[in-house]
Amino acid sequence: MVAAAVSAFVFLPLPGQIPVLMYHFIDTPERAASEKNVVSRKSFARQMAFLHRFGYHVISMDDYYAIKTGRKKPRGREIMITFDDGNYTFADQAYPEMAKYQFPVTLFVISQNIKDKSYGSMDEQTLKKLHSNSWITLGSHSRTHPLLSQLSDDAVRQELLGSKRELEDLFNTPFWYLAYPSGNMDERVTRIAEESGYRLAFTTSLKHLKDVQENFYSIPRVKISRTSDCPIAFWGQISGIYQAFKRLSHTFSGR
Ligand SMILES: [Zn+2]
Repeated sequence: MVAAAVSAFVFLPLPGQIPVLMYHFIDTPERAASEKNVVSRKSFARQMAFLHRFGYHVISMDDYYAIKTGRKKPRGREIMITFDDGNYTFADQAYPEMAKYQFPVTLFVISQNIKDKSYGSMDEQTLKKLHSNSWITLGSHSRTHPLLSQLSDDAVRQELLGSKRELEDLFNTPFWYLAYPSGNMDERVTRIAEESGYRLAFTTSLKHLKDVQENFYSIPRVKISRTSDCPIAFWGQISGIYQAFKRLSHTFSGR
């Protein structure tokens, strides 16, 4: 029993199984106590230290894509870290903790919010400064953060292709990766994401895959919220155990 637990700890996640962690906001313990998408800085610092201490391979989005397309061999125990919404709490609270280890991270940003400096978005200058770190990748999180499945084809295109072009102009770098706002999408949205020239697109939980095939344009992620404060819960999430369990319950709930 102990041996099984130890080997699970050492070998999980298995090569090729790469949990993609999704964070939103890192802030004070007070805010983390009242909002479920907020992780306290202390807890976040502990999670980064955990990954470092136990030798997880935090990989970049480009490496993830290379592994997914068979151009790179996974070493095992890879995980990936993403942040949605481009909120200022990344620069203020998460960045200093990540800079200690320089763990690769992808920030999915909302193009219109950057321009308007609205909804707590980091501004262009802050993002440019962050992006000057080789370990920070920027991705698109649409133009205005709508529920894409409720829009016409043209409107979806404006959000996905439109944000890609705006962000590429703004940051002078290709935007290959996309996260759907609120994880919301359907088969049609995934097609438009592919046509818009993205390499990969991410949703949130498996529930969004109810009527959608899992492929490069519908990759589920593991949400890290204040409930991940407990180290065992966090380990469950980064080891792939949580995902396997979710997948099983998803299958039995009549997918
Ligand atoms: Zn979002």
